[in-house]
Amino acid sequence: MHKVSDVKVEQDILKINKRIASDNRALFDENGVTVFNVMGAIGSGKTCLIEKAIDMLKDEYSIAVMAGDVVAKYDSDRFTAHGIISIPISTGKECHLDAHFIEHGIEELDLSSIDVLFIENVGNLICPSDFDLGEHFKIVIVSVSEGDDIVMKHPVIFKNADLTVVNKIDISEYVGASSEKMAEDSMRCGCPRVIMASCKKGAGIDEWIQYLRDSIEG
Ligand code: MG
Ligand code: ZN
Repeated sequence: MHKVSDVKVEQDILKINKRIASDNRALFDENGVTVFNVMGAIGSGKTCLIEKAIDMLKDEYSIAVMAGDVVAKYDSDRFTAHGIISIPISTGKECHLDAHFIEHGIEELDLSSIDVLFIENVGNLICPSDFDLGEHFKIVIVSVSEGDDIVMKHPVIFKNADLTVVNKIDISEYVGASSEKMAEDSMRCGCPRVIMASCKKGAGIDEWIQYLRDSIEG
C-alpha cells in the first residue's frame, strides 16, 4: 500500500522532472533541434524504425540519437554504424528515461550542429509516459506480436502520444492479432495519428519518413 509520504515523494520527483525537461526544451529550441521521444515495449521495433529514419533523412538533416536502455551500448552501436552520433544512456536499474538523464546526454552533444535528435526510451509502456524529457513529439511503437489488446491495457501512453506506429503488420495473421483494432484503440485513447508499418518488410516506411519530415519542418 502507498503511504501518503510516498505519494508526496512521487509528486516532488515529477515536479523536478518537469523543470529540467523545460530547461532541456529551451536548449533544444535555442539550437533549432527537433526532438522525438520514441517509446514502446521491448522488441516493438523502436531501434529498427529509428535506423530507417537515419538512413533516409541523414542527407537532409544532421541527426543524433540518445539510446536509452538498462544497458545501452548495444542499440547505440547499431546507430553509430549508420554514420551518426549516438549517446548511450544506460539507466542501470531504472525502467524509463527522465529529464535528468537527457540533461547529461546534452552535455555530450554540440546541439548547434544538430537538426534532429531521436531519443529511444527504455522498452516499457508504463512509466515513460509520466516523464517529459523536453521532446517536441512523443511517438509510441507497438507491435502486433504484443497482442491486439495491448493498447487498451496501456491507455495513458497512447493518450499522450502524437503518433502511434503499429509495427510488424506483416505477421498479424500468424500471431492472431488485428492491427486495425490496435489502430482504432489508439485513436480511441486520444492519439491523433496512426501509421501501419512493417519495419523489416518496408511497409509504411514512406509514411513514417513523411511524418518525421513534416514534424521537423513544422
Ligand atoms: Mg531498442
Ligand atoms: Zn520506469
